Amino acid sequence: NVNAAGNISVRPYGAGTLSHQEIDLMKVIQKASDPKAAGGLGLRLPVIVRFPDILKNRLESLNAAFDFAIRSTGYGSHYQGVYPVKCNQDRFIVEDIVGFGSPFRFGLEAGSKPELLLAMSSLVKGSPEALLICNGYKDQEYISLALIARTLDLNTVIVLEQEEELDRVLEASHRLGVRPVIGLRAKLRTKHSGHFGSTSGEKGKFGLTTTQILSVARKLRAVEMLDCLQLLHFHIGSQIPSTALLADGVGEAAQIYCELDRLGASMRVIDVGGGLGIDYDGSHSSGSDMSVGYDLEEYASAVVRAIQYACDRKSVPHPIICSESGRALVSHHSVLIFEAISASSPDPASFEPNLAYLLETLADDARADYRNLMASAVRGEYETCVLYAEQLKRRCVEQFKDGLLGLEHLVAVDALSELVSREVAAADPVRIYHINLSLFTSIPDFWAIGQLFPIVPIHRLDERPVVSGILSDLTCDSDGKLDKFIGGGSSLPLHEIGASGGGYYLGMFLGGAYQEALGGLHNLFGGPSVLRVSQSDGPHCFAVTRAAPGPSCADVLRSMQHSPELMFDALKRRAEEHVPVDSIEALACGLARAFGSMPYLVGAAGFVGGDADGSS
Ligand code: PLP
Repeated sequence: NVNAAGNISVRPYGAGTLSHQEIDLMKVIQKASDPKAAGGLGLRLPVIVRFPDILKNRLESLNAAFDFAIRSTGYGSHYQGVYPVKCNQDRFIVEDIVGFGSPFRFGLEAGSKPELLLAMSSLVKGSPEALLICNGYKDQEYISLALIARTLDLNTVIVLEQEEELDRVLEASHRLGVRPVIGLRAKLRTKHSGHFGSTSGEKGKFGLTTTQILSVARKLRAVEMLDCLQLLHFHIGSQIPSTALLADGVGEAAQIYCELDRLGASMRVIDVGGGLGIDYDGSHSSGSDMSVGYDLEEYASAVVRAIQYACDRKSVPHPIICSESGRALVSHHSVLIFEAISASSPDPASFEPNLAYLLETLADDARADYRNLMASAVRGEYETCVLYAEQLKRRCVEQFKDGLLGLEHLVAVDALSELVSREVAAADPVRIYHINLSLFTSIPDFWAIGQLFPIVPIHRLDERPVVSGILSDLTCDSDGKLDKFIGGGSSLPLHEIGASGGGYYLGMFLGGAYQEALGGLHNLFGGPSVLRVSQSDGPHCFAVTRAAPGPSCADVLRSMQHSPELMFDALKRRAEEHVPVDSIEALACGLARAFGSMPYLVGAAGFVGGDADGSS
């Protein structure tokens, strides 16, 4: 919501929240970053602000949607979801989900050994019935760990992704004396056509084919362990676009489930994987990866009805329904806030090209371009003007490369072509806003798969934006810019930044899933600071319940095998050889400060972004 001050405010419990319970994002940022404000934390931007109340709301809404679908159809079992930790493995998110999910028997899904370790230790505090789903490729160690989890009374299911995993499970189960609960991941024939479905269908990367499913069931029967097979899982891809496709996939999986029941497995759970999509662009349509054509209730209803239909026809008892919804659970809970530190400004001189000077030195062909340009302008043929201006500029650049023109000539021709494009477009040129952020660290999906996220200034929204801008990040990489936005635009409506630069804050929304987990260390920019903000009865309706600065230069260097301590010593020794004795201490302090500071720029605005000497 936009509040009376023109700032974005957050309503963790949705649109029905009263306005006095809204959390003003600018107040949060002020509190987080102002070292001088009362209670200010002096955290550096960029910052991820997490709202655990939103997580709670999403979790409750998902459970309520399934409960409603189950009650309204008379379905004979219950819903019991798991959170796939790969979406965001942050300790406090996982702990929150386990805590908020406990009344709903909500569990976790792991896809690797470290994820399994974190899921095991988190679920110790969860509901005893919560499922711990072990997906991903598994070696002997992974499988042994999953069996150890069963001995710890965690409701662990080893889901076979490959047929060979069965032999490893049987060996480890025999060695450890633990009877496993086994699931199968089926490779469905139903194929999701969007970007996220590229690994679904018969030729998909994951899961067992029908032949392999039958073979696993037979092997288990042969070793008298068919009762261990209790769960069927599939995942047709993230962002499933429509309930029609969803129902198709769930219906196919439900048939396999019924067949396994017929073959004698002790089937109990159908796990419909992830894929519950979210509406990034607000269009509520199934036509692109940026949105989906259903809401939570419609999703749950499609799943429940498809399973019920298949099971009723085969007289198979209704299974527990599990989903591994990640994106839909955590995307909304956080906002990435970053500062635009400066903007390219149109140079007023550049709109007054020194034509007389330019014309004196032009070669004949370039002079002809200029004459044609002017003639087109007189005739009002503006598109042709642009073509001649481009041609003229190209020729001048060639002449410059041959040493026939000076820098001043290039300036004049640049100004002329800028003037022409400005007049033709009848608009200000798009400006570049420099943002204190790394796209590769914080919005990797934009670069990798063209995923768009809502991005908007979080303040001054009571002022008309007068500039069109693209956002250019700190990395030395030409891909490090945001130039495509929700709604199809190649620039964002923005406000002017003050002459001193900075003090202009933007938020990227719906990035709570995958972005933090996938982000890399390009140019050694580490992750943002993180703030956890809960709703409270205080004067500003919020309380900061956790604040963690982002990794320092030393931290990111360490992650690439460097040793900041040895680096510091080497540089200090060098200083002892090269600088006067009385300067060494100050120099060593400067070095130590650099190792300890965050890699991002110190905020230009002063109050937000930490103290200017970087000592925070
Ligand atoms: N389960 C599995 C096996 C997955 O591969 C994924 C992600 O692709 C998920 C769950 C989470 O999917 P989503 O974030 O679309 O809910």
